[in-house]
Amino acid sequence: MRKTKIIATLGPASWSQQVISRLVKEGVNGFRINLSHAKTSEMEKAIEYIRSIEEKRCIYIPIIGDLQGPVVRLGEIEDFEVAKGDKVFLVNREEGSAEAREIPLPESKVFYEIAEGDILLIEGGRIRLRADSISDSSIECMVLTDGIVRKRKTFAIQGKDLPLPTITEKDMRDVEWCIEHDIDYIGLSFVRNSGDIEVLKDILRKKDAENIKIITKIETKKAVENLKNIIKISDAVLVARGDLAIYYGLEEIPELQDRIIKTSRSYGKPVILATQIMESMTENPMPTRSEVLDVMHAVREGVDALLLAGETAIGKYPVESVSWLRKIIIKAEEKKPEEVVFENEQIYDKFARGVVILSDLLKSKIVAFSRKGSTARRISRYRPQSDVYVFTPNIKVVRQLNILWGLKPYLYKGLDRGIPLDEIVEELKSTGELSYGDLAIATAGLRTGTTDIIRIIRI
Ligand code: PGA
Ligand code: MN
Repeated sequence: MRKTKIIATLGPASWSQQVISRLVKEGVNGFRINLSHAKTSEMEKAIEYIRSIEEKRCIYIPIIGDLQGPVVRLGEIEDFEVAKGDKVFLVNREEGSAEAREIPLPESKVFYEIAEGDILLIEGGRIRLRADSISDSSIECMVLTDGIVRKRKTFAIQGKDLPLPTITEKDMRDVEWCIEHDIDYIGLSFVRNSGDIEVLKDILRKKDAENIKIITKIETKKAVENLKNIIKISDAVLVARGDLAIYYGLEEIPELQDRIIKTSRSYGKPVILATQIMESMTENPMPTRSEVLDVMHAVREGVDALLLAGETAIGKYPVESVSWLRKIIIKAEEKKPEEVVFENEQIYDKFARGVVILSDLLKSKIVAFSRKGSTARRISRYRPQSDVYVFTPNIKVVRQLNILWGLKPYLYKGLDRGIPLDEIVEELKSTGELSYGDLAIATAGLRTGTTDIIRIIRI
């Protein structure tokens, strides 16, 4: 059984019924929706379709709503090229015109922050402009770096902190949308400190949606500086290499990636690696050698999941990207992931560690009953060699567990009374997951949140 999970971003290349169903067959364990883009009716249909697959195939697929976060983006415009020395116009509108060389910046507050002489950064500085002459609705700028201006790319003013809250008004509307659409995880972008996560937790609590878990995206310098405190209160962590590379420089990425993954794993938090995983497959049917190496390295570092973005959202080969990724993961998993030093282990974590050590020793399978998912998360944390079958009565929890390392989650449909270890072992026998001669270690917690039961069962 493959241990490292695959998450695919939905977009025009993948939101049809046919592609979704092929992606799931190829091994996608979770989907991501990038909320920076408009939520079209195709996207809503895709969600419905994913939910209908779940019932048919009894696999439960989490959907991640990825918030835009406190960042300013350009509005809608056709791609256009700019060269050093060119004149362009920044306009305070939703839409610009490539022909008139008008770049749209819809956020008024930010538009009116710009002063003459300011250096303006598009895509984190990939394109730089200088504000030369300001009128009411348009700012004449001189281009300082060659590049292609693309719609919805990030915008910043060098040296100025923009007046944006952790959760912007747009994010707030998107959170509502996530709740309405039964989304399982929310991705929090551009987190700066642990307080940012508290803010979203508070909002979810007030809206009676605490069952949505938070994936913290590490993509700013502040987040790297506050890494431990941020990780400690996150439900899961995402290494957002795209923006990290913009704030740090490309050559810093390998070490940062290593540190974020190690720290997350140390504290027992699921960690996802993102951005340019199979980037060349946006255009080509095969990955490059260096992409293969990158994935292999990440699997050996012990990430829980790898996230495809453009490859499945807008690429020419969404299905092939997933099948290649799966193939490389399986090969990489012939070796065990690196070990980490465990931090902040509580008594039930240590108990789960014991369960994993014992199962490795006996070469047994692990069967768990986990009401809120705590036992399952603890088992996954210790990266057992054996297959792990987890039953939980809560559909959101089943889905959320599906992107964690090594877990095979099932929806428990029996009466929610006591600890039904015998019943779930019987069910696994009937589906052929357990067979005569197998050893199984069954575990659970007597009360919610604990892990304190262990039984060794000879099938
Ligand atoms: P994004 O995050 O795709 O939402 O920007 C990922 C990254 O920055 O790498
Ligand atoms: Mn990002």
